[in-house]
Amino acid sequence: MLIVQKYGGTSVGNIDRMKNVAARCLATQRQGHQVALVVSAMSGETNRLLELTRQLQEDPNDREVDVIISTGEQVSVGLIALAIRAAGGKARSFLGHQCKIVTDSSFSRARIVSIESAPIKEALDAGEIAVIAGFQGVDEKGSITTLGRGGSDTTGVAIAAALAADVCEIYTDVDGVYTTDPNMVPTARKIDRISYEEMLELASLGAKVLQIRSVELGMKYGVKIHVRSSFSDVEGTWVVPEDAAMEKVVVSGVTVAKDEAKITCEDLPDISGVAGRLFAPLADGGISVDMIVQNQAYDGTTDLTFTVPKGDRKRTVEILKDKVPELVGKDGERVSYDDEICKVSVVGVGMRSHAGVAKTMFQLLAAENINIQLISTSEIKISCVIARKYAELAVRALHEGFGLSLPPSERVGL
Ligand code: ADP
Ligand code: ASP
Ligand code: MG
Repeated sequence: MLIVQKYGGTSVGNIDRMKNVAARCLATQRQGHQVALVVSAMSGETNRLLELTRQLQEDPNDREVDVIISTGEQVSVGLIALAIRAAGGKARSFLGHQCKIVTDSSFSRARIVSIESAPIKEALDAGEIAVIAGFQGVDEKGSITTLGRGGSDTTGVAIAAALAADVCEIYTDVDGVYTTDPNMVPTARKIDRISYEEMLELASLGAKVLQIRSVELGMKYGVKIHVRSSFSDVEGTWVVPEDAAMEKVVVSGVTVAKDEAKITCEDLPDISGVAGRLFAPLADGGISVDMIVQNQAYDGTTDLTFTVPKGDRKRTVEILKDKVPELVGKDGERVSYDDEICKVSVVGVGMRSHAGVAKTMFQLLAAENINIQLISTSEIKISCVIARKYAELAVRALHEGFGLSLPPSERVGL
């Protein structure tokens, strides 16, 4: 078999852990498999580098920022290759430009366009372990790019797709995908198998165990993803196509995202075209708007509330303060914002065929006296924006209320 193993920051956090990675991949190779590794920066390193750049440049969407923050992975691949050699194996390291992980030029959030798998295959055929830097690529002009926080997951799955690997193992500091963040809720349970679609929602809604784009690529190219711990041999979570058994579980997981801010524009004229005009400059500025709620007042005006990534909040308010006066014929002080929010969500493919999930979610939050500010739903998820100070309380209440600390077979219906 051809196996891609991706090791996250904690799994390569010091030299002893790197020796552990070397031992693990050599054991896999000894079983007769070809092994390509994708490796993250040592834990804390990307944050440290980002903090250095922030002292000089706030916007991370910058060519030079990517030059700097991609270096953590360069150190890791070199050290891991040395660790494999020290353990008696053969290894070759690859940076993004050496196996031509070509991306677009959106610095700090680049998307992979193509990968040249030949140099990696050559190393594997020579009996070497290929050690590939996660998180980084190169654009068509030769500039170094990075794939967004957590982007080594995406490198892992993309390399697995390019090599047509049999499996992509994501080694991290928890032993699988849980019903909610096990570091926040100790009663969280490991999920044995989860569909790409559910995993995509969990990842988009705050479960950082896999980067969203990695799940998208897994789904698109049919890469089998196995999320597991680098500290044990226990079976982790398989991310696979949906099957009938999965639909029996109504709610599979609870997430919280704390990286959004809420913006409100009050007293807008309630006439056609206003929302279009308001959101156009945001879209032009590359700001993606998430939840949107519009309320009509009796006096012919309307209030529009929506969320944006917290990093874009300042720019959003500036743009709107510029535009709103044009739209409402008065100055822009009716634009307000709230950074102290979070979004809690429940996710499950079984929701498609079950009524009452929203009702239960609202009742569980109400029982904790938590006020819901915005709501959005899709076929397989419900999200509520609430005050940030209630994040953990809400996650615990929803996790217990939907019975997620029990084995799936023991959960009672809604
Ligand atoms: P790595 O450095 O290996 O990429 P990350 O820190 O990016 O690891 O992701 C693993 C972390 O994701 C866990 O330590 C855990 O706190 C967090 N996490 C959030 N939600 C979940 C979930 N539903 N299941 C498992 N882990 C989760
Ligand atoms: N080192 C990068 C980060 O911390 C990429 C990753 O670890 O996946 O975001
Ligand atoms: Mg990660």
